[in-house]
Formats: sequence, C-alpha cells, structure tokens
Amino acid sequence: PYDVLVVGGGPAGASAAIYAARKGIRTGIVAERFGGQVMDTLSIENFISVKETEGPKLAMALEEHVKQYDVDLMTNQRATALREVGSVKEVELACGAVLKAKTVILATGARWREMNVPGETQYKTKGVAFCPHCDGPLFKGKPVAVIGGGNSGIEAAIDLAGITRDVTVLEFADSLRADDVLVKKAESLPNVKIVKSAMTTEVLGADGKVVGLQYKDRTSDESHVLDVDGIFVQIGLVPNSEFLKGALELTARGEVVIDAHGQTSLPGVFAAGDVTTTPYKQIIISMGTGATAALGAFDYLIRNS
Ligand code: FAD
Repeated sequence: PYDVLVVGGGPAGASAAIYAARKGIRTGIVAERFGGQVMDTLSIENFISVKETEGPKLAMALEEHVKQYDVDLMTNQRATALREVGSVKEVELACGAVLKAKTVILATGARWREMNVPGETQYKTKGVAFCPHCDGPLFKGKPVAVIGGGNSGIEAAIDLAGITRDVTVLEFADSLRADDVLVKKAESLPNVKIVKSAMTTEVLGADGKVVGLQYKDRTSDESHVLDVDGIFVQIGLVPNSEFLKGALELTARGEVVIDAHGQTSLPGVFAAGDVTTTPYKQIIISMGTGATAALGAFDYLIRNS
C-alpha cells in the first residue's frame, strides 16, 4: 500500500504530495484533472511572490514540481468511494481499480454553482466571474452585478463597492439570506443597489466580453437590462465530496470536517483545500492546508506503524 495517497490534483493535492514525498515515503496522487480549478482561471495576481500568472501556467508548474519527486501520478481517474479495511484505507476508482494506502489525503476541491443561463459559459473569464478576491480589481471603476444575496453575495458586494464604480445585487427570493450586519453595511454604501425577486435570464455580451445582463422581475414579470462589465456569481460553492458521504464527517453543506492538523473524523484520513471546512477558498490557502495535511499524515504514520 501507499504510505500516503492523495486524492485530487489541484493546489492542495500537489502541495500535499510534494510535502509527503519529501519525507521519503511511498506517495501516490490520483486526480480526475490535474490542476483543478486553476485550469479554469485566467489571470492570477494574488499568489504571493508571483506578481502575475495564468491558470494553465501555474497548473503546469505544479505538475512539474510534483514530477521532481518520486510520486505515482495517476490522472484521468475519478475516486468513487473511500473505505477502511482493517488498518488499510481503500480508494475505489470509477474504472473499477482499488488503491490501498496507510493514510489518505482528500483534496478534491469544489466547484462554483452556476446560474445555467444563456451566455454564462460563453463569457466565463470574459466578465462572468466567481471570485471577488481574485477578479475584483479587474473591474476597477466599472459597473458590476453580483448574483445572489446570501452571505457570500453581500460580502462580495461590500468588497467590490470599494473597487468598482457601482454594484447591483440581484437576489432571486423576496428577501436576503445574508446576516443582518452585512445587509446593513451593504445598504449603507452609496454605490450598492439591491434588487430582490430578480431572476437572471441571460448574460449579454459583445466583442467577446460581457456588456450586461437581463433579468426578470418575478413580481411583475417584466424584463430589465442592466449594463455591467462584470457579473460575480455568488450562489454557492459546492464541495466535491459526494463520494465521501457516510465514510466520514461532512458538514450540512458537504464540507469535510478537519482539525488544525488536517485530520478528518476517520483516523489516518486527512483533507485539505476547498473540499474542507477551512475558511476562505484560495490557491495559497489550499497549498498551505495541503502541506499541513501531509505533515499530519506523516505524524500519524510515525505513531501508528
Ligand atoms: P481544486 O483546485 O478544485 O482541485 C481539485 C482536484 O481534485 C482536481 O484535480 C480535480 O480533478 C480532483 N477531483 C475532484 N473530485 C475528484 C474525485 N472524485 N476523484 C479524483 N479526483 C477528483 N484563487 C486564488 O487564490 N486566486 C485566484 O486568482 C483565483 N481565481 C479563481 C478563478 C476561478 C474561475 C475559479 C473557479 C477559482 C479561482 N480561485 C482563485 C480559487 C482557487 O482556484 C481554489 O481555491 C483552488 O484551486 C482550490 O484548490 P484545491 O486543490 O483545494 O481544489
């Protein structure tokens, strides 16, 4: 069996694999798509010490760094189950193979929930954005919209109000789900406008970038067009943890519960990055928690074998 088997090949998984391999222990990494969400990212300006890079470039650098070490890299493979058989953990793959390991690090990340309206996919990274910390500064002085009036949507609106010209929040329901303190703060900002009962129906673009969006007022059934350069979709981040249900503790939202050492509720199984309860989903944070999980797994190995 592997000493450490990492599931997921994004920033968290790559970091965990490198930290594990540097201990001279048998390390494997199995991933559906190496690079993870980074592959969908155009410009990255907050990966500290690298002023600017692009997603695919960073993903390639991650892979090159992993390949510097003696790590079994298995890509295009999806894990479908995790179980414990005696003191060994088994990870089952969609192809039917079963990988055995003394410790497992789960780093399967998350995906943004999408609106599923015309134009959204076409204008992704061309005005349709999901991460205000990442892409907010690209819309400096411009009008933007935020889709979703939950905590992340209202936080995004407050954040973006300081950078952009103005922010219109569109909430589907007739009330906001965000915490009161956030709503009050957003309402106090002169360049934030909140529209409730609004159903986004289309992303409008021209010359390869977003120029606006269309929404329907659900009370009057009237259609409106909003002229914006950016649309931040904040309707939820879904952890890729479906295959772990029943195997270990997940929160109601599906995040893998971990402690300060990256340990999950199942001894010997660690987790890192966007799939976990770690707050603030970012590349640098995923890499940090990946390192923590690998060191946690190493600690577990020297105590238990
Ligand atoms: P992920 O990157 O999601 O990687 C998950 C890995 O697990 C992938 O290899 C995936 O294929 C694999 N996987 C999933 N399920 C399975 C399974 N069942 N079996 C096997 N493998 C599986 N952050 C920043 O810091 N700066 C930015 O500028 C930035 N911009 C972003 C722009 C966009 C459009 C998006 C979507 C995100 C952006 N982020 C940015 C967030 C950042 O990409 C994530 O926080 C980070 O990638 C999370 O790393 P991770 O390794 O935890 O998960």
